[in-house]
Amino acid sequence: MDTKQTSCKQCGICCTKGGAALHSTDIALINKDHILRKDLVTIRKGEFAYNPVADRVQATKAEIVKLRGTGREWTCCYYDPMSRGCTIYDNRPMACGVLKCWDPEESLSLVETDLLGRIEILGQNELLKGLIAEYERACPVPDFTSLPDAFLENPDPIIASLEDAVNRDLQFRDRVVTKSKQILEEEMFLFGRPLFQLLQPFGILVMQSGNRLLLQYKETQQGSKNEKI
Ligand code: SF4
Ligand code: SF4
Repeated sequence: MDTKQTSCKQCGICCTKGGAALHSTDIALINKDHILRKDLVTIRKGEFAYNPVADRVQATKAEIVKLRGTGREWTCCYYDPMSRGCTIYDNRPMACGVLKCWDPEESLSLVETDLLGRIEILGQNELLKGLIAEYERACPVPDFTSLPDAFLENPDPIIASLEDAVNRDLQFRDRVVTKSKQILEEEMFLFGRPLFQLLQPFGILVMQSGNRLLLQYKETQQGSKNEKI
């Protein structure tokens, strides 16, 4: 904490470190189309992400829906680097409004608390809620917490199982995104990031062979590519 700073300098740095997580009160922003579902990404319960309270990367205890980054960067999709400003400032999520980088206590109190999930966001949209349920049954989040110890014993069966899961995940997505433009645009919100993108921090290399992804275990440092919550 910077003890000399007492107000926001509007430098925009916080917006370049990842989009905000959504909380219950933010549902109005979605219902009024100030925030669009295509601009959201879901971190499913159990995925690894940086937890600022614990100050370490760990499995999330609840589903987190947050503003997506820009391209392959963490920078919030609603951040305008030219003006170093927020393009939805008057309708930004609650977590953005309370953020004080010089005094993070209030922001930290929101971490993994009163979060807004996919089902609440979709409201009466039974079609998309059914699709999410189908996805969760076909492609559940692996037990990432157990992976490091399991790899120490014998990585081969785990890699084989994850390889099946990675390809099942992609097949599901390929099938459903062709159903409608809306599902294609909202893929990251509806299903989160593809499983293969979550494996690299665990020392797993991903390679393509024809239509199939192949995995290879290569022990490495965990944590550098994890999402921030
Ligand atoms: S809260 Fe801090 S990091 Fe964010 S814009 Fe203000 S001064 Fe910059
Ligand atoms: S919504 Fe606005 S204030 Fe919040 S992280 Fe994005 S650009 Fe920054």
